[in-house]
Amino acid sequence: MSHLMNTYARLPVAFTHGEGVWLYDEAGKRYLDALSGIAVNTLGHNHPALVKAIAGQAARVLHTSNLYAIPLQEQLADRIAEASGMDEVFFCNSGCEANEAAIKLARMHGHQKGIELPHIIVMENAFHGRTLATLSATGNRKTQAGFEPLVQGFIRVPYRDIEAIRKIGEHNHGIAAVMLEMIQGEGGVNVADEAFQRDLRALCDEKGWLMICDEVQCGMGRTGKWFGWQHAGVMPDVMTLAKGLASGVPIGACVTAGKAKGLFGPGNHGSTFGGNPLACAAGLATFDAIVDDKLIENAVTVGEAIRKGLAEALDGVAGVVDIRGRGLMIGIELDRPCGVLMERAAEQGLLLSITSERVVRLLPALTFTPADAQTLVSMLAPMIRDFLARG
Ligand code: PMP
Repeated sequence: MSHLMNTYARLPVAFTHGEGVWLYDEAGKRYLDALSGIAVNTLGHNHPALVKAIAGQAARVLHTSNLYAIPLQEQLADRIAEASGMDEVFFCNSGCEANEAAIKLARMHGHQKGIELPHIIVMENAFHGRTLATLSATGNRKTQAGFEPLVQGFIRVPYRDIEAIRKIGEHNHGIAAVMLEMIQGEGGVNVADEAFQRDLRALCDEKGWLMICDEVQCGMGRTGKWFGWQHAGVMPDVMTLAKGLASGVPIGACVTAGKAKGLFGPGNHGSTFGGNPLACAAGLATFDAIVDDKLIENAVTVGEAIRKGLAEALDGVAGVVDIRGRGLMIGIELDRPCGVLMERAAEQGLLLSITSERVVRLLPALTFTPADAQTLVSMLAPMIRDFLARG
């Protein structure tokens, strides 16, 4: 009997090493990694510059405490500020922890405005994490079931419904913030259009609400811009990052600008391991490689090649509802639940995931080449065809 707690429906495969966009299991079988740990391995596996940065830092100091100055944190904060145009960064270790900080900031902002019990507007099908507050912000009843009572203070609207948000603002004066993903990841790769993003920014300005963008899955260049909100030319007051920020080393960040700047002061918030030197060194190497190797530009062209290739290969196939996404965040929606495809793809040496039951999700490393895109399409399209034809 295993002593490991059974919290994941895992596939029975263990990887021993990786090289670029390929992973290898114990038997030496290779897998094309089109998931990169759900947008974790920004630079793919065993990236030389990343390995060097981590090993170099490990030989100096892993971590002491946030009670002392950590120059690497300052440097990484500068890189995030430069890429985003935002002001201040708080470092933690994960996406949910970054979102917890964002939720606390929203409440502080509400109290500053004189709201006794500040509320945050959140979206249907959103995913913000599994700690109690982020689980409560998450828009999936199945994920929440069994954990009641949930944390109070969230009001839910359909995704991309600016009129619903406006209406709440008209009669509810206790709103402090709106929190959303610009592209919903777990919710099925749903893209917020640019008009909606701009309307939301304008409404938040008008009402004095914080606009909080969860970029944990769609950030760090994946969609063809550093951050998802940059497609619409808006800037949030709060942004959260994690997953791909240090290309596989655990780190999270809560980034502020505008009205959210300066809300936290000494003693308000903290995290023992948040922004430790090892993770920051990996984060800096990730930023360097994204810039040096032009990986954002690559995400645009290779993402387009994958979508176009799939659209051609699946043209006229009954049961394919939509092929969507931005850059290297791609969803193929089918007309029926397709969970079995994850296992079947792995058997055939391809790693992907199924989200929202009917959406095949691809989140390859930003280092994916046009040739990798072709390999992916030639493996995946027949699998989808076969599944739709025979189940
Ligand atoms: N926000 C989003 C958009 C996510 O996709 C996830 C993880 N799937 C999280 C937050 C939670 O991140 P973590 O698992 O690092 O807590």
